[in-house]
Amino acid sequence: MRLEEFSPADRELVMPQVGGQLVYHCLGCGTDHGIAELLYTCPQCGAVLLIEDRGFARLKARPGAAWRRAFDLRRMLNLPALSGILRYHELIAPVVPLDSVVYLGEGHTPLVEACPRLKGTLGLDFCFKNDGQNPSASFKDRGMAVALSYINYLIKHQGVGQILSVCASTGDTSASAALYGAYLAPGVASAVLLPRGKVTPQQLSQPLGAGASVFEIPGVFDDCMKVVEHLADHYQVALLNSKNAWRIRGQESYSFEVAQDLDYDLAGQALVVPIGNAGNVSAVMAGFLQLLELGIISELPKLIGVQSHHADPVFRYYQEPDPAKRAWRPVTVQASVAQAAMIGNPVSMPRVIELARRYEQAAGQARFFVVQVSEQQIMDAMILANRHGHIVCTQGGESLAGLSRAKELGIVNSGEHAILDATAHHLKFVGFQQMYFEDSFPPEFGVKPRRELVNLPQEVLALAADQMPAPGKPLAGEAFQRFVEATAREIARRLGLEPRS
Ligand SMILES: *Cc1c(COP(=O)(O)O)cnc(C)c1O
Ligand SMILES: [Zn+2]
Repeated sequence: MRLEEFSPADRELVMPQVGGQLVYHCLGCGTDHGIAELLYTCPQCGAVLLIEDRGFARLKARPGAAWRRAFDLRRMLNLPALSGILRYHELIAPVVPLDSVVYLGEGHTPLVEACPRLKGTLGLDFCFKNDGQNPSASFKDRGMAVALSYINYLIKHQGVGQILSVCASTGDTSASAALYGAYLAPGVASAVLLPRGKVTPQQLSQPLGAGASVFEIPGVFDDCMKVVEHLADHYQVALLNSKNAWRIRGQESYSFEVAQDLDYDLAGQALVVPIGNAGNVSAVMAGFLQLLELGIISELPKLIGVQSHHADPVFRYYQEPDPAKRAWRPVTVQASVAQAAMIGNPVSMPRVIELARRYEQAAGQARFFVVQVSEQQIMDAMILANRHGHIVCTQGGESLAGLSRAKELGIVNSGEHAILDATAHHLKFVGFQQMYFEDSFPPEFGVKPRRELVNLPQEVLALAADQMPAPGKPLAGEAFQRFVEATAREIARRLGLEPRS
């Protein structure tokens, strides 16, 4: 629908007002800092930041029902700036005018009900949210769309000159940063740092294709992150890791979409998300808290974070039930198929601690859980999901394995419905599938294929044919006919096909 086709009252709801008093709020010393300058850590104490709206109270003047109507009406409006995650403009980036919004088709990824046979296997009711259907094929586009929209606003309206963006990445952050950066060239140029050999070939191809400067660094992600932090502290660059609080704001859209797709009724729902650098899980909590405070939803869903036993610092932290006794200890990661989450010292841990506290306080009961799964369970789950028509990556497999584990532990039960974050597209991680099928995992992963899940291509050498075609050397005439018949006979034999009568 066009804007002028809405009633005057609805028009007011549909079009967001630019405003708000956004600040960087320090989770260490509690200071607020203005957003005019790009900050990643508190200039006073060095702790991580969250963006908060000191004008949030103005949003409460509109009742929850009116907010729901506003978001639902925006579904009908054909306007690119509000077609992506900035459908929730007021809750994400109210200071950004619509002419600065960068929209590459991100967000509004589908909730796909799990195949009934798969639900039967788990004894649970659940769906996948296919975040691999974002433009760079992972959820990272949510945060990047907002970070780059804000940068675009600074360039267009605040006279900021060329920006060089940098990020460290387990693969998907760099793919996304490079894609959005390329859209804004020459105003933005991108550099990405990757741990050598620790991103998939598909992920490596993405920033290369988008024209970013790609640097391969020895070590693991945590090492790259330290180099990027040093760059951001000492040189004129814009940091696009999830340390950048704008990324968290954008990723909150995941919660807004889940709420909207469930008609804002979250009773009996449990969300399952893999945890790496812990930006996503922080954003999911922050998002639902905003919705609750505005009366858009009336209860908070359960939230279950999942980690591999090879990279599980957040799980270990929450193993201690008494908050006063919990102690934060980074871990040294081991090889993980959930490579995008293979992080031993998550940058957003202070955000998790603070938001989980607020989340449980608002819910008045235990609502945030972290479970641990094995590498074997992750691989089995990824392939099992694919076998049932789903497109989950290894991290999506981690969500599925985590749901099984949560059921074992009694965190979810068969009366509830779960929403599994399928964080990236299956095709980015097919190398792990290949290793599984060929039983060629290096021993440090500890993964062995389950026979019934293995699938390999079968070569058909039509031995009954005397000649075979080759590239550039086609067969013709009777030789070709003999080849076609012999090959078809061999395939029919292997498939056990009945002849037509
Ligand atoms: C980044 C990423 C994760 C981990 O998310 P965090 O916000 O770092 O916890 C999980 N899965 C995929 C596919 C990712 O790209
Ligand atoms: Zn501080």
